[in-house]
Amino acid sequence: MEEIRSLKVINELGMHARAAGQIVELAGKYKAKLFLMKDSREVDGLSILSILSLACPKGGEVEARIIGVDAKEFIDELERLFKSKFGETGMGQYRPKKKTMKGFPVSPGITIGKAHHLDRSKTMVFYRKLINKKEVDREIDRFRQAVDMAKEQIQKFKSSIPEQVKGYAFVLDTHSMILDDSLLFDSTLQRIQKEKVNAGWALKKSVDNIHQLFKKVEDEYIGRGMDDVDSVSERVLQNLTGVEPDSLVGIKEKVIVVAHSLSPCDIVELNVSYVMGILTDVGSRTSHMAIMSEALEIPVVVGLESATDMIVDGDLLIVDGNTGDIIINPEPDTIISYEDKKKRYNSYKSAIDRVRHLPAETSDGYKITIKANIEFLGEAKTAIENGAEGIGLYRTEYLYMIKKDFPDEQTLFDDYSQIAKMVAPNPVTIRTLDIASDKMMASDSDMVTSREDNPALGLLSIRFCLSERNVFKTQLRAILRASVFCNFRLMFPVILGLGQFLGAKRVLKSVMRSLDRDGIEYNREIPIGILIEIPSATSIADILAKHADFFSIGTNDLIQYALAIDRDNEHVAHLYEPFHPAVLRMIHQVVKAGNKEGIDVSLCGEIAGDPLAVLILLSLGLEEFSMNIGSIPLIKKMIRMLPLGEVRDHFKGILQVSTSKKVESFVLKRAQSLLPNIFEEDVFRYRATGTS
Ligand code: PEP
Ligand code: MG
Repeated sequence: MEEIRSLKVINELGMHARAAGQIVELAGKYKAKLFLMKDSREVDGLSILSILSLACPKGGEVEARIIGVDAKEFIDELERLFKSKFGETGMGQYRPKKKTMKGFPVSPGITIGKAHHLDRSKTMVFYRKLINKKEVDREIDRFRQAVDMAKEQIQKFKSSIPEQVKGYAFVLDTHSMILDDSLLFDSTLQRIQKEKVNAGWALKKSVDNIHQLFKKVEDEYIGRGMDDVDSVSERVLQNLTGVEPDSLVGIKEKVIVVAHSLSPCDIVELNVSYVMGILTDVGSRTSHMAIMSEALEIPVVVGLESATDMIVDGDLLIVDGNTGDIIINPEPDTIISYEDKKKRYNSYKSAIDRVRHLPAETSDGYKITIKANIEFLGEAKTAIENGAEGIGLYRTEYLYMIKKDFPDEQTLFDDYSQIAKMVAPNPVTIRTLDIASDKMMASDSDMVTSREDNPALGLLSIRFCLSERNVFKTQLRAILRASVFCNFRLMFPVILGLGQFLGAKRVLKSVMRSLDRDGIEYNREIPIGILIEIPSATSIADILAKHADFFSIGTNDLIQYALAIDRDNEHVAHLYEPFHPAVLRMIHQVVKAGNKEGIDVSLCGEIAGDPLAVLILLSLGLEEFSMNIGSIPLIKKMIRMLPLGEVRDHFKGILQVSTSKKVESFVLKRAQSLLPNIFEEDVFRYRATGTS
């Protein structure tokens, strides 16, 4: 079948690269073959360069010839594409057929509204060779000024930070620290001087170099640091080139912001009365921007890759911040069903919100303690606001990951004392550095030598600390100094046996002596506990319990080490079984050993935030949990409805169940018959259909 049609180019820019690209994209979807002809020259419709070579301006005409089975449909759609001006302006634009997208949900909630693009295209950087010393000096001056300006801008953001994200002001401090970091600042100056290149180019090279360093340590956590470096360097580049970035300040109507990326400074600027949601092409769940937007309670989906291409200003969008689904210009039925979903989600949220500040007491009077796991300062406030009765796990790695050098005592002390003050009078369990050597920016330094083949079994965590005593002692000094401000508990991770635990305690004692010598106050009675997360520790929990003030069970690692499953490897993810009978028995053994010695036992792995897992753990005798902040209200809601005595009676025998699958159905069956009003409740049903 052959179809021939004359098509007029009516868009302002003529048949430019983007338009030609759309033609090629369309041609790729059909079996039929397209030829385009202008001025008697015919070109292949699958070659973008050939189409461009037709050089057809606005008002020009091309003849499309299509040969093949689906020629008719193809030519109709091609005509629509031309008539839509290739999506260049205004209404009635051509849009690829794809109307849905999926990204990473980072802040929950459902929102429906109009799209508003925020231009975050990167500043173009050009190479320029400097010809004499005068030019070099001038570029150095320009760079210094651009950095100073960036610092002032960051300080300004800091002074106007909204109440809800005040706790994250430290992110802006981190940005200032990055500006001073030798990897960025000194190395850019050196490049200008030695390589005689302009400031923008030198900065770009320094950032590329930092990217390489980060790449070496592939880890989501580290990615967060890289986002910060990018956002800081972009600010300096804008200052160098005088580009005024598109800003969120100007938004004066309710919209959903669509951007390539957003920085924490953008989040500080946004007005929650107008910004109903955020979509970005890039970004990860753990980026600072994501964490801050969650505090603002705006639905956010990141990592959409092509949101800025697929969505144009004014498009109607549905954003599901629970699942990561985006629907562009939805049909009326879809809008109705999402309005309903939104209502259900909001009632779910208010149901759990109502209980978040009430005690986690079961219906038969058992007092359960619920605390939060946090990774940085800013989260402490959010944790308490969400009903946490303290911090059950402060992961202290962040400050070690953002810079090339190990943090000094004062930096650590400032961070720890701020957390202590924020959470007081509630307790904070602070965990000493728990990191594999390959995950540190400092891995470039002389102290940490080669990369390990198997970091999960290598020189990590307490092993690293015991081999790098000075790094360890600096952290212990900072923790002890901050212990005067609140109820701090100190916890050593990945302890494999008694000798190692006593070794860590000896280092602590020596640090205490040095503080005594310096006349510095600290809490001498600070409780010292073990994060139980490897099977060797569970087997000798009875021995360890005689020497520890408390245990916290870290099931994230315990499951990995008990089942020999890398917790980050998607190929074996299906074998990572929290309900494996071996894991349950290990947990039970630790609880028993702790109870026998009369020490506190809590659990701080991810499973502490899962309602079904919590039922099992309660039945095994645990009464204290530390979990991700988002799960606290839901778990509290469940606990407050629970007759724990009955649960324990009905769950007897759980340790005899032979497989994870059977454990799950054992628990579900009993939970549904014993607690129908809980697992039938909308709140839990909603979660089961994918809110987390
Ligand atoms: C754990 O292993 O369960 C734990 C709480 O620590 P992390 O997830 O930081 O290793
Ligand atoms: Mg762990």
